[in-house]
Amino acid sequence: MKRVISLLLISACACMYCLPAFGWGQEGHRIIAKIAYDNLNRKAKKNVDAILGKQGIIYYANWADELKSDNIYPQSIKDGWHFQDFPAGLSDSIVADALIHYPTEGGNLYRVLDSLELDMEAEQISRTNMIHTLRFIVHLSGDRYCPMHMAHMDDKGGNAVKMKWFGRDTNLHTVWDTKLIESQGYSYTEYAEMLQHEYKDIKRQIEQASDEQLLVDSYHVTEAIYKYQEIWDGNTYHYIYTWRQPMERQLYIAGIRLAKLLNSIF
Ligand SMILES: [Zn+2]
Repeated sequence: MKRVISLLLISACACMYCLPAFGWGQEGHRIIAKIAYDNLNRKAKKNVDAILGKQGIIYYANWADELKSDNIYPQSIKDGWHFQDFPAGLSDSIVADALIHYPTEGGNLYRVLDSLELDMEAEQISRTNMIHTLRFIVHLSGDRYCPMHMAHMDDKGGNAVKMKWFGRDTNLHTVWDTKLIESQGYSYTEYAEMLQHEYKDIKRQIEQASDEQLLVDSYHVTEAIYKYQEIWDGNTYHYIYTWRQPMERQLYIAGIRLAKLLNSIF
């Protein structure tokens, strides 16, 4: 059952895992927002445009990451809201349970998203808060399907897993936030259009799936990414060849689920 928790209460107690963690990078969040925007019903699109400005859902998709450099926001909002990391090797039922009994460590993403959704639905917030709340929802619901935002706690969500990407030092978290997406060279509009064409046959299935099932599926992707790390030969092209499609599927799922969420709110 969802619980109403005020933003202030969350921000006061959420800083238990303060680490640098950007969700999908800028392009990833724009792709997700564009897919969502294309799949909003008329009423939801009208409302979202009225609150954020026409296509503002895309322009503000990265606002929640950008404000990390603004000192007026508490550190907890900057970090702990964007991820929910897990230990390795959990059962499906334990992962699914995280949506109901929010974990007490590893981040605050699911608790925050539920709270923001309830705030939005209740419409008991000021105009400014409504704008900010919607910007957060757009961004964080994208982070929810980023495999490295439900990664392992003991390696700081993949930040401590060192990798070479075309000869340059990086880490597993960064590869999934930005490098894998950017390796394809599409603009966010091209990517959003391509994915909607590519995955149109599973759109209905994604819309109808439960949050729990999609979360468990994402966790399996995360676990497979870690397993691959053990056998990867270090060749960047091999990495891209193996993980481009699972990454794109996660982006598409995030976009369709954001549309579903906004259609239900409005
Ligand atoms: Zn984020």
